[in-house]
Amino acid sequence: MHSSFKKKPVVQLVCRFCDSCICKRGMKAVLLADTNMELYSTDAPCAGKISNVDKPYSTGKCECRISDTACNHCGNNVGYTIMIPCVPCLQSCNNGHLWIFNSTVVWAEGQLDKSGCDVLRWDSLSECPGDDNSQESFHEDKDDIDCIR
Ligand SMILES: [Zn+2]
Ligand SMILES: [Zn+2]
Repeated sequence: MHSSFKKKPVVQLVCRFCDSCICKRGMKAVLLADTNMELYSTDAPCAGKISNVDKPYSTGKCECRISDTACNHCGNNVGYTIMIPCVPCLQSCNNGHLWIFNSTVVWAEGQLDKSGCDVLRWDSLSECPGDDNSQESFHEDKDDIDCIR
């Protein structure tokens, strides 16, 4: 991950429709194509909290194949996941996160670090998600998607 991402606070993301926690490792992000659009991204959502819906599709802006995601508890759409990133996107400097949440449908809550005095930031998170967050398929391709720098 590029160093500029490491100082960002880690946020917990909660579905606005049903108050389920869907991600403990969220990062606030902006869409490169539209910087007014606020998003949250993660490298690993909580296991079993969200599912892909419908078939993968491309947005037309690039060749990435993406799939919409929905909250498993209430079924509402919460964002999307990049199933197959395209080459230009892989080569651009990004945070390597393939799950994106729409800021209008999730609440973000800051978290405290181990000392309990400071906000938890990405550089104090372990590289690998903890057991409760892990997604098998993600680990296999993680090295390929991290920022090249
Ligand atoms: Zn792309
Ligand atoms: Zn929900």
